Amino acid sequence: MPIDPTLPYDEGNIFARILRGEIPNKTVYEDEHVLAFHDISPKAPTHVLVIPKGAYVSWDDFSSRASDAEIGAYVRAIGLIAREAGLVEPGYRLLANVGEDGGQEVPHLHVHIFGGKPLGPMLA
Ligand code: 5GP
Repeated sequence: MPIDPTLPYDEGNIFARILRGEIPNKTVYEDEHVLAFHDISPKAPTHVLVIPKGAYVSWDDFSSRASDAEIGAYVRAIGLIAREAGLVEPGYRLLANVGEDGGQEVPHLHVHIFGGKPLGPMLA
C-alpha cells in the first residue's frame, strides 16, 4: 500500500521496528545518525537501504526538519557505503521513493543503493 503522506510518523512501521531491534537485519553500516542494511527482496546484486535513525517519514520530511548534522551524516554515509561496496566504478543508482505517486511503501525515509550489474535507463 502506498503511504498517506498526511499521516504522522507511524512508530509501528517496519524500519522503526528494525531500528528498535525488534526485527533482524543484515547491517552494512551504522553510526550515530544512520543505519544501512541489505534489502530483504534485492532487485540487484547489491541492494542496500540507508535510513536515518530519526523519525522521518520521507525525503520531504527529512529535508524540512532534520538537523544539518543528520543530513550531513546521511549524505556522507550513502557515499561511503557505495564506495566501500566497490560500486563507484562502474557505477550505481540511488533511489528515494516519496509518497503515493513515488510508490513509497515504508513510511520511514530510505534511500535505495542499487549496483553490481548494468541497471539500464530505469529500474521498473
Ligand atoms: P519502498 O518501496 O518503500 O521505496 O521500498 C521499501 C523496501 O523495503 C522494499 O525494497 C522492500 O523489499 C524492503 N523491505 C520491506 N520490508 C523489509 C524488511 O523487513 N527488511 C528489509 N531488510 N527490507 C524490507
